[in-house]
Amino acid sequence: MSGKLDQKVCIITGASRGIGKAIADRFLAEGARVYALSRSPYEAPAEHAGSAHWIACDVTSESSIESAVESILASEGRIDVLVNNAGITKDGLVMRMKTEDWDAVLSANLRSAFIASRAVLRTMLRQRSGCILNISSIVGIHGNGGQANYAASKAGLIGFTKSLAREVGSRAIRVNAIAPGYIETAMTEVLPDTLKESMKTGIPLGRPGSPAEVAAAALFLCGPDASYITGVVLNVDGGMGM
Ligand code: NDP
Repeated sequence: MSGKLDQKVCIITGASRGIGKAIADRFLAEGARVYALSRSPYEAPAEHAGSAHWIACDVTSESSIESAVESILASEGRIDVLVNNAGITKDGLVMRMKTEDWDAVLSANLRSAFIASRAVLRTMLRQRSGCILNISSIVGIHGNGGQANYAASKAGLIGFTKSLAREVGSRAIRVNAIAPGYIETAMTEVLPDTLKESMKTGIPLGRPGSPAEVAAAALFLCGPDASYITGVVLNVDGGMGM
């Protein structure tokens, strides 16, 4: 079948559920060859199972990411798209935040994107093509009390995105970010109902977003329609962060 990502080799971190799974499913539907990296399995829709591969990977481990990328290269010989989506929260007020919780969030959300990007760049530079997409957050733009570690990691991803876009643009490699707002996934399911309701009142569209709506933006930024777009941060937030 053909589609906007026909035969493109796409790596998506944190694809076992939520936004990452929606991106993986959407990319498969557009003809991509998808490599899902996460600790628990990615289950692809049956009709695309032949183009989907799950590689067990802990993105907080440099060697785990690097060996996953090596094995993909060994079987495919190229890498077209990397989506750095894996992420966690460990919320708390700064005054009471444990150093381990700061480090864990920075490692899973930001350091992982650096390690994975570095691992694919040699190949993309040689190909003189490629696309890296980082899943940031509107919290990385506006901040959020109780999420200083998470906000720092997501703001860091924006600085990383723009810097890398400048470094590799001359080789036709595009680097962009998406800043989702409140998206209904396991990550937000655990929030208190009162907080969910108050977040909704701050969303001009009046409702949370779905993983599929983030995946649609990811497809745009990683596909041919965004061929002249690099270094941008696209809010997918129902207007929450404007
Ligand atoms: P989920 O908690 O539903 O999914 C998180 C994914 O990240 C899982 O697939 C998980 O896989 C993976 N992951 C976490 N830690 C690791 C690790 N150490 N190694 C490998 N994979 C890991 O979250 P969402 O889908 O909601 O979030 C996806 C991204 O979107 C995150 O970066 C998040 O910060 C961002 N985001 C989400 C928003 C929302 O409202 N939901 C808003 C703004 C940004 P596994 O556990 O199997 O390893």
